[in-house]
Amino acid sequence: MSDLQHDINVTCPFCFETIDIRIDSTEGARQSFSYDCEVCCRPMTVTVVLGGEGVVSAEAREES
Ligand SMILES: [Zn+2]
Repeated sequence: MSDLQHDINVTCPFCFETIDIRIDSTEGARQSFSYDCEVCCRPMTVTVVLGGEGVVSAEAREES
């Protein structure tokens, strides 16, 4: 099974709400991108690591 899209959950570092983000695995095994929180609209940096089994880790931190 090799889905090209994965849904990840990260916790906003500002308002601590859980946010669902859909990512595309064809973008690379390690992805880092800016994302505006859907709840508080502040910008965070999301880092996602993908492995053969899917999402290995996903985290968000304050954009510096
Ligand atoms: Zn937020």
